[in-house]
Amino acid sequence: MISEERAWEIAKKIHSLAEIGSKEFESSKLLVQALKEEGFEVVQGYAGIPTAFRAEKKIDKGARVAFLAEYDALPLVGHACGHNIIAASALLSAIKTVQRANKGSVVVIGTPDEEGSGEWAGSKIIMAEKNCFEDIDFVLMTHPGTEWSVGSPSLAVQDFEVTFHGVAAHEAATPEKGVSALDAAILTYTAVNMLRQHVRRDANVVIHGVIREGGVASNVTPDKAVLVYGLRSSDTEYLKELIRKFKRIVEGCSIATGASYTITPIGPMYTTTVFNEPLMAFAEQVLKQLGVDVVPYTETTKRIPRGSTDFANVSQIVPSLEITCKIAPQGTPWHSRDSEKAAVSDEAKKALSIVSEALARIATRLLTDERFAQEVKSAFKSR
Ligand SMILES: [Zn+2]
Repeated sequence: MISEERAWEIAKKIHSLAEIGSKEFESSKLLVQALKEEGFEVVQGYAGIPTAFRAEKKIDKGARVAFLAEYDALPLVGHACGHNIIAASALLSAIKTVQRANKGSVVVIGTPDEEGSGEWAGSKIIMAEKNCFEDIDFVLMTHPGTEWSVGSPSLAVQDFEVTFHGVAAHEAATPEKGVSALDAAILTYTAVNMLRQHVRRDANVVIHGVIREGGVASNVTPDKAVLVYGLRSSDTEYLKELIRKFKRIVEGCSIATGASYTITPIGPMYTTTVFNEPLMAFAEQVLKQLGVDVVPYTETTKRIPRGSTDFANVSQIVPSLEITCKIAPQGTPWHSRDSEKAAVSDEAKKALSIVSEALARIATRLLTDERFAQEVKSAFKSR
């Protein structure tokens, strides 16, 4: 059987590979290999995504619990989000659950490119759209951080690339013939800044953008300008309204300057996270039994959301739980050199062991305690 030590070796190996999103071929293979050794049936390239997989081991009739594994690193800073720990924990929790539960099935789904670096950005959303979670009853996972907690809220987000096309001309000889794509971009940037003041205050709106291209020579009218934006809110429906306003701004600036435009969404829309109270309450209880200090979910769920995750889209369709496990001291900046080091620290090793034990206990209860499983399901339905 794959030991905690072996799972830790895999976590360290994935850390050193540091493969970025959609290119996690070796990391994916390491997990697949380990799961095959444990007798899981594995489908590689799951959902048409080259570095995804689905592994399943049927114990007996009953429900299906899926552990989600992420294994993508970040450009420049490697595993500074600690996804190597997510991967090893999915593996270890699944193996422990198989040993303990006497019915149901245990599934591990390898979900690439959570960070949105490549072609398969937000792969959980792609999988959700392809009904990959249809036969899954419960979803469990962990994400490393600087505390032990459950119930971390997230922002819905949609990214866009806006390209303006103008007409190049000699800026001194024939400026009247030029149409500046840069002017359209700057006008857009300014108008979006104005939009920020007139948005719902309770909807945690965040709009962040850059001008990525804006011309090359001062004496040539820029005929191409590119903006990249991220629009976020803690209200998915309100985000859709913001997107409509954003598109009107781009259209307006195009008309004003005469530059034509294209707007392309970058990746799918990430939604907000749905919480499951019975799952959170039980997870808290288990973590306390395992001797860790847990921030109460009554506190975490009321926090202002600070980021986005494709796990949120899964939580909209299946009762789901994500445990934040502590691998670094509070205040450690994330996606940094410090968090990258933390992902192979002794604290990370300890966290991997504790969180895998916790997830296995939760999964085992979901598969074997019918009343608890029903309670979780009805809480999901009545959300
Ligand atoms: Zn992450």
